[in-house]
Amino acid sequence: MTNPLGLYIHIPFCERKCNYCDFYSAFYNKDTLSVYLSALKDEIKKWGGTVNRPIDTIYIGGGTPSLLGEDIISLLGCIKQNFKVLSDVEITVEVNPSSSGEFLRFAKMAGVNRLSIGVQSGCDNTLKILGRTHTSAEAEATVKKAREIGIDNISVDLMIALPDSNLQTLKRDIDFILSLNPTHISAYILKIEQNTVFAKKYDTLNLPDDDDTAEQYLYMCETLEKNGYTHYEISNFSCLNKESRHNMKYWTGDDYLGLGPAAHSCVDGKRFYYPRDLQGFIKNPQTTPDGNSGDKSEKLMLGLRLSSGVDLSQIYGEIPKDIKKKINLLENAGYIKADLPRISLTDSGMLISNSIIAELIGDYL
Ligand code: SF4
Repeated sequence: MTNPLGLYIHIPFCERKCNYCDFYSAFYNKDTLSVYLSALKDEIKKWGGTVNRPIDTIYIGGGTPSLLGEDIISLLGCIKQNFKVLSDVEITVEVNPSSSGEFLRFAKMAGVNRLSIGVQSGCDNTLKILGRTHTSAEAEATVKKAREIGIDNISVDLMIALPDSNLQTLKRDIDFILSLNPTHISAYILKIEQNTVFAKKYDTLNLPDDDDTAEQYLYMCETLEKNGYTHYEISNFSCLNKESRHNMKYWTGDDYLGLGPAAHSCVDGKRFYYPRDLQGFIKNPQTTPDGNSGDKSEKLMLGLRLSSGVDLSQIYGEIPKDIKKKINLLENAGYIKADLPRISLTDSGMLISNSIIAELIGDYL
């Protein structure tokens, strides 16, 4: 198979843990990062010799990849030496505004052409509540510097339904995000994950209820769309042709290879992952199988994440009568847009996508 592959690289280090975060990361230590990079490069060499597929997207995520500093150059150099990287490759790196420093210059030298900046909010007090290490001024400065050095494909993260939030605070945050003029916005509803600081102090958090959260999500969708951003995936908005090419692979069932502890892969119909174990990866990196990809429920779930929706004839063959009935009801209720055999979710439908998917899976899939 010669279809291009997406490559994900995990940099599992952070300077401190944000209060909501359950991504796999260890506390940053320069020496451990250096040992990790060496193990990672060995793994890149191993896979480069095994997978005979060109690479058209590279995504360096974390953790905090901007802690790599100058090492981003040798990391991307190693990838280019060991894989056939296509000339129009999209290379994204996640950037924490508080540790961007000289990193952006090195990233540009290494060939990075897209940034994903963890802005989250425009309010310093909210950033503190979230446990972020940056300020809104640092976020602004990072975006400005990225443009100065010639990286103008910039995605920013926004979090909604935060503690003490309401429509006014959300409007303030959206205004801030829009003032940065990004090409892409990833916007997430805060979810309280187990084993996070927020989970431990859940009872003391003044979180919006389900109705207020829905109101915030719909307001955000409407405002971003009014400002020229296409809502192309449940949590993602982009300017014309600025969708994340790498993340689209996850949602369209394309293949990707993920390297690093906690990184997941899907190659030739097989899913596998590296355990959440930094020292294990350094000593003896091994993947764990995670089943096969591409069954019909998965196609339905992934397809409905996208505004382009899903062709139900590819899921059911002939669409069963009672599924058609359910679609009709959901369409009349404003949750679905149907042009059978294709359906997609409206903004309201995206809010309750799990229940809609469960309805459509029913007894059939
Ligand atoms: S910087 Fe990112 S990965 Fe690290 S703790 Fe914060 S949210 Fe999690």
